[in-house]
Amino acid sequence: MCFDLQSRLAARRAEHLYRQRPLLETPQQPEATVDGERLLAFCSNDYLGLANHPEVIAAMQQGAAKWGVGGGASHLVIGHSTPHHELEEALAEFTGRPRALLFSTGYMANLAAVTALVGQGDTVLEDRLNHASLLDAGLLSGARFSRYLHNDAENLGKRLAKASGNTLVVTDGVFSMDGDLADLPTLCAEAKKRNAWVMVDDAHGFGPLGGSGGGIVEHFGLGIDDVQVLVGTLGKAFGTAGAFVAGSEELIETLIQFARPYIYTTSQPPAVACATLKSLELLRGESWRREHLSRLIARFRRGAADIGLTLMDSSTPIQPILVGSSERALALSAALKARGILVGAIRPPTVPVGSARLRVTFSALHSEAQVERLLDILAECWNRLAEEPEADA
Ligand SMILES: *Cc1c(COP(=O)(O)O)cnc(C)c1O
Repeated sequence: MCFDLQSRLAARRAEHLYRQRPLLETPQQPEATVDGERLLAFCSNDYLGLANHPEVIAAMQQGAAKWGVGGGASHLVIGHSTPHHELEEALAEFTGRPRALLFSTGYMANLAAVTALVGQGDTVLEDRLNHASLLDAGLLSGARFSRYLHNDAENLGKRLAKASGNTLVVTDGVFSMDGDLADLPTLCAEAKKRNAWVMVDDAHGFGPLGGSGGGIVEHFGLGIDDVQVLVGTLGKAFGTAGAFVAGSEELIETLIQFARPYIYTTSQPPAVACATLKSLELLRGESWRREHLSRLIARFRRGAADIGLTLMDSSTPIQPILVGSSERALALSAALKARGILVGAIRPPTVPVGSARLRVTFSALHSEAQVERLLDILAECWNRLAEEPEADA
């Protein structure tokens, strides 16, 4: 029999890898109702707490009243409207790049940029821990594709020496499952030696990182000569939806001409662009959100060390707790949930086998008291779990 979906699904269950979608019954916020239960959530990517901000909501409502709901067509036909254009200009100014191009999702922005820049005869070099959309983009491009050791400029250098054609080095800015930063100054220097371009997907850096939320390039003070292709997504700290690529005039024109995921899709609803213009203003201006977030992160790391938890080398709002097996990660996540705390268990294939983890994330809307509550309950659940023998490895 072909299409034996039943046994595929059964195998997935047996491996503790079966995925389910928790049903969110409130807006995105720390105290959320999920599957009928009131829970304190530490798992969204709404790092600055803008997804449910009254001014952002009002901007979207006014945008819909003025521009309607649907984009109506692709950008190249008649779907590129004034709010999209204004947002692109604002994002170019924000990133200090000559131009920016708006996309409907980050996944599509990544597919677009990589496939428009490299193809057969070229080379794409990616960090092993890059986001799935970047890895998919590399495969789809048809270029020679290889993955260098995580954040390892020396290993990248060896691969650069063997590269042919146009060569693109691609990395996450903040690694989404570990929370650590790409060592961009070193990676960019290595790329420059070989005339390779660097593309950074800073989905998790824009907002939390940099003095005005400009992400990892602002954090390290890197310009367009270091990072030629800069990607940001708008569904995380911006609290809205979509993504952008920022870079030179020629880069953006190349994407408009050749990037299929840009050309063959309907533009995002213009009201979403109106909302993002407002959230960009809040993200840049309200630095208290970043400062409060930093205090929460520091408090959590101290508390977690006291409990004896294994954290990762992260200074960002992504603070994974390394657990090991998928089964234990699920057990810990279930124990927390029974006590009113929601944290996602991240398992293979999203992370390497044996490194299942709880991915704790913080938002500027969390209070210090809520972080204390998380730590108290973590201590209780962790100590209980430690008493039980490990069943699988
Ligand atoms: C979330 C994410 C994306 C995808 O962005 P969407 O707008 O959600 O499609 C791309 N890259 C990274 C690193 C991400 O974390």
